[in-house]
Amino acid sequence: MSDYMHIVDGAPALLPLGKIVCVGRNYADHAKELNNPIPTEPVLFIKPSTALVTLDGPVVIPTAWGSCHFEAEMAILIGQPLSSCSERQAADAIAGIGIALDLTLRDLQAELKQKSLPWEKAKAFDGACPTSAFVTVPVDQLQSQQFQLRQNGQLKQDGNSVDMLTPVLPLLAYISQFFTLQPGDIVLTGTPAGVGPLALGDELQLSLSNKINLSTTIKEKP
Ligand code: ZN
Repeated sequence: MSDYMHIVDGAPALLPLGKIVCVGRNYADHAKELNNPIPTEPVLFIKPSTALVTLDGPVVIPTAWGSCHFEAEMAILIGQPLSSCSERQAADAIAGIGIALDLTLRDLQAELKQKSLPWEKAKAFDGACPTSAFVTVPVDQLQSQQFQLRQNGQLKQDGNSVDMLTPVLPLLAYISQFFTLQPGDIVLTGTPAGVGPLALGDELQLSLSNKINLSTTIKEKP
């Protein structure tokens, strides 16, 4: 179904496709825009490997369940197993960083939240995690990555990893207390303010510092 494979520094990485562990509300400005409280601990959820698709080509979105929002996020590719790990072990296990879309069926999510039901249908559907290739960066640069999303030429999201409420290394350590991270897993680190609905035919430009620059178009899921 998906032609996705992990790429690191331009070459295929010998890593299987795994789960995607996501953190919600890791940027205060985004928590506020959705009228959510700023959490005292990371809010975690998981997308299965069937959500992974490449950003190297059009992104298909479902149209049957209301609005589908973009959320641009810095993505971390895991290269070594992490279980109840230290921050130092987490640092050693990072295989690369990239940019991903945490696609969210916002109307469906609102309905599920209102009924106090899990979000999976709104966030873990097939193709819900379009992801770029990854690049390696020194650990001391993890919290100084600027990333942007433009929709039809308009700047909609302009975030910097310096603003994460829980930075990458403590986040990986926290996640690994609950879910063992395995080689090939991806962690999405949260979205800054500016999320919004996608429309068919949209052109998106995504960038991560001066390392990743890509564009894609939005198409309807057949
Ligand atoms: Zn998100």
